[in-house]
Amino acid sequence: MHTVTLIPGDGIGPEVTAAACEVIVAAGVSINWETVAAGTAAIEEFGTPLPQQVLDSVTKNKVALKGPVTTPVAGGFPSVNVSLRKKLDLYCNLRPVQSLPGVNTRYENIDLVIIRENTEGLYGGVEFPAGPDAVVATRIITRAASHRIAEFAFAYAAKRGRKKVTAVHKANILKKTDGLFLACCRDIAQAFPSIAYEEIIIDNLCLQLVQNPHQFDILVLPNLYGDIVSDLCSGFVGGLGLVPGANIGRECSIFEAVHGSAPDLAGKNQANPTALILSSVIMLEHLGEREAARRIRQAVETVLKEGTRLTPDLGGCATTTQYTAALCKALLKS
Ligand code: ATP
Repeated sequence: MHTVTLIPGDGIGPEVTAAACEVIVAAGVSINWETVAAGTAAIEEFGTPLPQQVLDSVTKNKVALKGPVTTPVAGGFPSVNVSLRKKLDLYCNLRPVQSLPGVNTRYENIDLVIIRENTEGLYGGVEFPAGPDAVVATRIITRAASHRIAEFAFAYAAKRGRKKVTAVHKANILKKTDGLFLACCRDIAQAFPSIAYEEIIIDNLCLQLVQNPHQFDILVLPNLYGDIVSDLCSGFVGGLGLVPGANIGRECSIFEAVHGSAPDLAGKNQANPTALILSSVIMLEHLGEREAARRIRQAVETVLKEGTRLTPDLGGCATTTQYTAALCKALLKS
């Protein structure tokens, strides 16, 4: 029996985490969930969006499944997502973007991996006024963080038999910060001669991705570029409802979808839980539950391919609960 921290989050978080838990039970994996509140749910109860008990629980259990948490725009409390990643040193944000059967998009056979540096860049949130009409934000890139994310990217490529790592940058303008990021990627590339290495400027990457995403394999990016490119790439495979993710540190890992709290869908039983369910597939692999992980992924593929129980984001009219029930049924048959 595994003990795992469960952070339902807010917005559509409670609906998609409930779906993932149900599917994990149907796959026959016993998990003792330690449920903790973060985000707006926690503010009401604890007066803070990120109570200490969340950090304590993840530190103790080492593994968490997390729903999205809303981040207020232009004011309000700091991002819970960013705080968790920084406080727990979850330095790698791993986001595999893969085409799924039965999902109609303009792109086929997409198989990209986004590896985003998760702890620094512009996400320090260090901003200060520079006179009455100007504001400065600091962007920090360190050798240590750049080395370890590059090392993760190449080690991941080697372990999974992937062919190429592309480092993404804007070092023509941000010569020192992105320059350091690139220098670190080049250093690490030398230790992995069997994996091709290339570099691309972020704006050109966006063009190349839209025109021919198949030319890329693994992308390694500083924090902000990784955030933006993740949403762009999710469009290749059918949208944010489908792309999973993992925040990985040396000690702990938090598994969560790429998408945010989607307040427009909250409480409507319309959210697509696939992204969080596939995040839990990565979590189960991490926990050594490979067979259950394989069966859940297969159930997702079966139900998407059948196409009769799709959620509205994929052109269907099934509710979150109907789609989840279809997955559980497919699992019981497998
Ligand atoms: P954040 O900045 O917190 O990552 P965001 O601004 O990227 O959030 P999301 O909350 O991810 O925004 O949602 C963007 C849109 O994508 C939503 O309005 C919703 O229509 C769609 N969306 C996101 N997640 C899902 C989902 N699981 N199922 C269906 N649609 C979704």
